[in-house]
Amino acid sequence: MSIRLLSETIINQIAAGEVIERPASVVKELVENAIDAGATRIEIVTAGGGKNLIRVTDNGGGIPADELTLAVSRHCTSKLTDDVHDIRALGFRGEALPSIGSVARLSIKSRTAEADSGYEVVVRGGHLEGPRPTAINRGTIVEVSDLFYATPARLKFMKTDRAESTAITEVVKRIAISFPQIRFSIAGTDRSPLELPATCSAGETVTEAAMLERISQVLGADFSENALALDSEREGVRLTGFTAIPSFNRANSLHQFAYINGRPVRDKQVFGALRGAYSDVIARDRHPVGVLFLQLDPAHVDVNVHPAKADVRFRDPGLVRGLIVGTIRHALAQSGIRPATSGAEAMLKAFQAQGFGTKGFETPEPSSSSFTSPPARNWQSASNYRPEPPRQEWSPQTAHPAQRPLHLDTQPVPRFEQVGFGEAMQATISQFTAPSADSRAAEIEAPAELLRAPLGAARAQIHANYIVAQTEDSLVIVDQHAAHERLVYEALKTALDAKPMAAQMLLIPEIVDLPEEDAERVVAHAQTLERFGLSVEQFGPGAVAVRETPAMLGEMDVQQLIRDLADEIAEHDTANGLKDMLNHVAATMACHGSVRSGRRMKGEEMNALLRQMEATPGSGTCNHGRPTYIELKLSDIERLFGRR
Ligand code: ADP
Ligand code: MG
Repeated sequence: MSIRLLSETIINQIAAGEVIERPASVVKELVENAIDAGATRIEIVTAGGGKNLIRVTDNGGGIPADELTLAVSRHCTSKLTDDVHDIRALGFRGEALPSIGSVARLSIKSRTAEADSGYEVVVRGGHLEGPRPTAINRGTIVEVSDLFYATPARLKFMKTDRAESTAITEVVKRIAISFPQIRFSIAGTDRSPLELPATCSAGETVTEAAMLERISQVLGADFSENALALDSEREGVRLTGFTAIPSFNRANSLHQFAYINGRPVRDKQVFGALRGAYSDVIARDRHPVGVLFLQLDPAHVDVNVHPAKADVRFRDPGLVRGLIVGTIRHALAQSGIRPATSGAEAMLKAFQAQGFGTKGFETPEPSSSSFTSPPARNWQSASNYRPEPPRQEWSPQTAHPAQRPLHLDTQPVPRFEQVGFGEAMQATISQFTAPSADSRAAEIEAPAELLRAPLGAARAQIHANYIVAQTEDSLVIVDQHAAHERLVYEALKTALDAKPMAAQMLLIPEIVDLPEEDAERVVAHAQTLERFGLSVEQFGPGAVAVRETPAMLGEMDVQQLIRDLADEIAEHDTANGLKDMLNHVAATMACHGSVRSGRRMKGEEMNALLRQMEATPGSGTCNHGRPTYIELKLSDIERLFGRR
């Protein structure tokens, strides 16, 4: 075939392949156009998950009649002059409208303030009709129908209407966060309506409070109760926004938002820095919640790396990362949340260097984060969160009780005038050695035959989560929560292959309030969950009723389980196959059915757990890949003490 220039329609369809991936991408482009046009109200209506209809109405500046034809022509934009490095609007490529016009029926009605009438153009299959006069208020209405009718291959990749309409909501929320002066609304036959009223008036500078209010409209009111404000600047790059305290974390990263000069981005470097800032205070499988706004000279960031403008390239990535990590860590420290001391890590390294944990039936992979104490995972308890006082390096001076911040939940130290000196001293000492009743060790007997088992005999439980066991020549520390979680997970998987699992009826059905999309996701998978013995049903728009829970999990926090499952499902929707999804659901359930850290265990219980671990393949690591136990050889301990 000889070389020839492709037709305009084909060129546009190829471009559409990059820009217009799914209905949500159309909505993103249209909403961005409305924002660029200075709108203060943007209404979105969809049908059939956006595949049948997307209509975006704005009250922005409008398009003059003589420019309507240009607006739908390729590479025509009003937002860029001759410098591709000076990009201040959300759009600039002049690609969106012609691309949409090549894969759908596109109608644009628009009217400027000066015009005596509105005008409409229609594009279908690359053919343009109009402009012709039409009745419309000031602003623009863009209507996209029969999306992808011209590219059936793309249509096949669409998910269910519900999934597409959820994706649209998420796109709108993501954009809305950075424009609190604009009122957004979404409605349609495929959804329940959502309103995000403006939290400040147009033209006025956006205050921190207005920003936080908009973010809370999107993330839920409890976000603002747990948010830390960020504001710092380094070498012309400014970071503002909010991140949540570590215990307000989620099972997936859908609650992380980043903006560069107001533009939503999904840049890996930015999210990597956010994760990095929390690496010492959040378990590896949990995700921090946060909204980051970066402001920098447009010349210092290239947003033209990706057609959908999701990724960016910074001139100085190190500076941006440093700013994000430094600012968040500072905010955490200010609020009294201190990452685990580096001392523990250094000690772990010393252990690793000396090759511990190589004995026996399985070698767990040591991880550097295994020494940080597991953060509170309870979403609901987050609002009761009381930051831990900063830890101090131990030394006789710093250990003086007068200098230690008091734990509010410990027993008050008796005052000298009320009790004798000896008692006061005793109270002071016990306050130092036992900050709370839970962390006192429970010591138990060790029968000789148990010492010969690979994980040895349980001797004590410390900090209400670690079983300290002893073998003939080593010390074993087991993370009881992680270990139990693994055992339950294995049992769940085995049970799944056999038959549906036994359910246990709740006396009173538990109602779990959720964001609407989450509730829908959970209900959509009700049948799958039934196989695990978890019975859920819709309970009004933003809630599910739980009637039965898996018998083998015993009593648990149903609210939290359902929330975590919603997160899991959002992340691993059926697209990944049922098997994958079942595994994730099993893992989430296992986590909830497990002996939570904090539960006191009796000696027999602890030994039973150790024996079960020895009998279960894969029990050396928990479902998230962290070790469930570590073993220190007596010889290594001796070396640590310089005895060898
Ligand atoms: P870009 O946004 O990259 O410039 P688009 O294809 O999305 O390219 O839009 C082309 C042009 O149409 C824009 O530059 C703008 O001038 C005009 N336009 C599009 N949508 C609107 C709108 N809602 N209000 C006013 N002008 C609009
Ligand atoms: Mg645009």
